[in-house]
Amino acid sequence: MKGMKAWVLRKPGPLEGTPLKLERLKLPVPLPGEVLIEVAACGVCHTDLHTVEGEIATPVLPIVPGHQVVGRVVETGTATKSFKVGDRVGVAWLFGTCGECAYCRRGNENLCSEARFTGLDRNGGYAEYMVARIEFVFKIPKSFDDIHAAPLLCAGIIGYRALKASGVKAGQRLGLFGFGASAHITLQIAAHQGVEVYAFSRSDEHRRHAVALGARWAGMLDETAPAPLDGAISFAPSGAVIPAAMEKLDKGGTLALAGIYVDTIPAMNYQKHLFNEKKLRSVTAFTREDAAGLLRAASRAPVKTDIEVFSFKDAPLALKKLKESVVKGAAVLSMA
Ligand SMILES: [Zn+2]
Ligand SMILES: [Zn+2]
Repeated sequence: MKGMKAWVLRKPGPLEGTPLKLERLKLPVPLPGEVLIEVAACGVCHTDLHTVEGEIATPVLPIVPGHQVVGRVVETGTATKSFKVGDRVGVAWLFGTCGECAYCRRGNENLCSEARFTGLDRNGGYAEYMVARIEFVFKIPKSFDDIHAAPLLCAGIIGYRALKASGVKAGQRLGLFGFGASAHITLQIAAHQGVEVYAFSRSDEHRRHAVALGARWAGMLDETAPAPLDGAISFAPSGAVIPAAMEKLDKGGTLALAGIYVDTIPAMNYQKHLFNEKKLRSVTAFTREDAAGLLRAASRAPVKTDIEVFSFKDAPLALKKLKESVVKGAAVLSMA
């Protein structure tokens, strides 16, 4: 059988040491319940950067990163009825769960201890082909082309779960702290639901972008919002944002943390930051229900994803620009 090109991580380390190498691998063979996908586009996420540089433990090496994959089914394993050859599909961070543990049974498959992740436990989308479990593959709405759909599959889904976790409903006020790939999608979905969005960012350009996408107001972290927030989401890796955001919440409000990594959180003052039933919670991975919900909501809004496209051979450059925070919108690798 023919082979494929893939970016392979054998030994994580700083980007400067070129830990990712372009290699020729054997074409993967789908097991029963899996499909082989020809990759068309793959989003580049901060988690990929943490994986490549060794800030996230890598249980499987060598590994091919990438977990925001849009492609077409080229081969179905046995007993695979839901998809046929030629179908356009998306693959996200959740490669698969056990389906049997207490978390899985109560609708929290995002917390499954046996969960496996795309691009961490199983080879991901920085490759010409990959396999995925049929039950964890999603149909991509027709209104999105391949490259614009890719960022929906991590940035979009995580933001959507965080939006639900914030508990904010139509007519209420939502604060967004940190304005990157995830926030720019979440803002559009919240605004379409009739939520008033208040964006906080250090960057002038990001604040303008937020208002252009429908935010009611945009300001700096140390500014007071025009009104208390019914809920908020922090996308920032900085723990210092947390007390500042908690202080801006109205009584009973929730702050949801969308990041996989947050540094030290400064001491909080009970009266100022938590009393009056304010809630602070994290968001960990997602469920298939979140993924389906996000894709529906993105199609309905409709969300417009801002992307910077890199050719497949420039994967290390995309990661470097992500590390330097100079990507315009969400970074996407295109196989075209
Ligand atoms: Zn991601
Ligand atoms: Zn489980």
